[in-house]
Amino acid sequence: MSARVLVVDDILPNVKLLEAKLSSEYYDVVTAASGSEALDKVKSESPDIILLDVMMPGMDGFEVCRAIKNSPDTAHIPVVMVTALTDSEDRVHGLEAGADDFLSKPVNDTALMARVRSLVRLKMTIDEWRVRENTANQFGVVSENSNVMEQPYEEATVLVVEDQSFETDKMRDILRRDRHDVRLVASGAEAMEQVAKQDFDLIIVSLNLEEEDGLRLCSHLRTRDNIRSVPILMVGTDEDLPKIAHGLEIGAHDYIIRPVDRNELLARARTQIRRKRFQESLRSNYEFSLSMALTDPLTGLYNRRYLEVHLQKLLRKNEDNRKLLAVLMMDIDYFKKVNDTHGHGVGDEILKEFARRLERNLRSFDLVARLGGEEFVAILPDITPELSYQIAERLRGAIGEEPFACSVPDGTIQVTTSVGGALIDYGSHSTQSVLDRADKCLYAAKDRGRNCTVFENVGKLDPEQFKSARRRALGGEEI
Ligand code: GH3
Ligand code: MG
Ligand code: MG
Repeated sequence: MSARVLVVDDILPNVKLLEAKLSSEYYDVVTAASGSEALDKVKSESPDIILLDVMMPGMDGFEVCRAIKNSPDTAHIPVVMVTALTDSEDRVHGLEAGADDFLSKPVNDTALMARVRSLVRLKMTIDEWRVRENTANQFGVVSENSNVMEQPYEEATVLVVEDQSFETDKMRDILRRDRHDVRLVASGAEAMEQVAKQDFDLIIVSLNLEEEDGLRLCSHLRTRDNIRSVPILMVGTDEDLPKIAHGLEIGAHDYIIRPVDRNELLARARTQIRRKRFQESLRSNYEFSLSMALTDPLTGLYNRRYLEVHLQKLLRKNEDNRKLLAVLMMDIDYFKKVNDTHGHGVGDEILKEFARRLERNLRSFDLVARLGGEEFVAILPDITPELSYQIAERLRGAIGEEPFACSVPDGTIQVTTSVGGALIDYGSHSTQSVLDRADKCLYAAKDRGRNCTVFENVGKLDPEQFKSARRRALGGEEI
């Protein structure tokens, strides 16, 4: 996995050293010698990860980190602070500025490579979601551009796997400061049981369990679908560093060295929880954008975009099946007057109920969409002419023969609809041409006085002839 690393340090030999180490692992290395140069390079070079010196004249590393993490365009880029300071207060300070991790000088090669690899991998995942979100936005839905640092980090559910009671008590007390809901278990088996039962925002795993290998548990947790995105924080001693490096390789997100420092644990937990919540928000924004891109928010029906794509498929299928397909176009009569008299809100209530009545009176495999405004379309695949007339009249009856309950003084409004229908044979047709044909009939229905159905090549249907179909509509009975 090749990635671009930005190395920031005001001391040239330090830059050269890191550059040499990373280049030998085939990373593409970009360098900067000051805070302000770093911020320029972050913009111009789009690095996948940043190794940032803390002590620099002018703008120090904390300030640079804050600037990167506070800009929505760059907040997703992982930042590792490289410092001679081992004081945990400085680590906490850095984590609060949004740093993803720390490395101490002199930099240990194993720790460096493990960290870089695991953070680059994480960034790739987030990049993927950002691309998808972007695509969804191109469908015309703009979702909030969220920032990882704006995610809440309190009141998370945390699972702690630790068998030394002194340590569990301590961790529970620390984690409760952020009002986390903490579950304590002493073995891998219990941990697997817990994760099967409920969702967690963070899992803390001891690498010093008496009876089993914590690393094996980490790897086991990684393979389960529902918790693949849940961060794992390993707890170990200095001697566990090789194990920790391995753990980061197999997908654990972070580690903390014993004795566990209260503030460091809180800060690391916060970073992981924020990141998980950020990833979740990207995912749900994406799913929301997609559903928004295909459905109409007011009525929940499919929108024009979906209809066009789906209709095209149905037309192609029809060519193969040699069947008939009906297109019914409907438009509420004098709807402008409803809005003018009762207000837009009441108009919206009518549109929602209109949609519901259409859905209720169609077959399960018919498609109904809102084309825009007060115009709707139903597509009836695999149909006969007679049945399509019946359904058209049934829909018209479902609208016009029962007043609409809504928030007006009288409690109800009488609404009618005109219907235009076209039967499409199994020749080759474009979606636009079939919609246009039904639309022409709809306008003919408006011309013929509204609240009626006009079919192509047939003309206005005689309501008397379809009385029983309309009655079935009122009864809500299945066709
Ligand atoms: P016709 O019988 O010829 O169809 O007359 P009409 O008044 O229904 O037709 P017109 O196209 O003149 O008016 C449609 C109205 O639909 C105008 C517009 O304000 C209203 N409308 C369009 N979209 C919405 C919506 O989402 N909510 C509400 N409340 N009204 C809408
Ligand atoms: Mg209308
Ligand atoms: Mg209209």
